[in-house]
Amino acid sequence: MARGGGMSEELKSCPFCGGESEVIKGHERATSREMRLFYRVFCRACQVRQLFHRSRKSAITAWNTRAGEENG
Ligand SMILES: [Zn+2]
Repeated sequence: MARGGGMSEELKSCPFCGGESEVIKGHERATSREMRLFYRVFCRACQVRQLFHRSRKSAITAWNTRAGEENG
């Protein structure tokens, strides 16, 4: 039997090097007093990183459609 319809959050490997990618979770400073959660995907092999995303799903979707959003 095939996988049961759960293709919502499948993380693809790195489009640049084919290496293993991973979602990491962290915090950014929203205001001087508030920290906000963010998610980003990065490649363990070539260290390509995403910009911050508000949700895990958003990060994965962005990675799968267009990895390497890194600016600078
Ligand atoms: Zn890579």
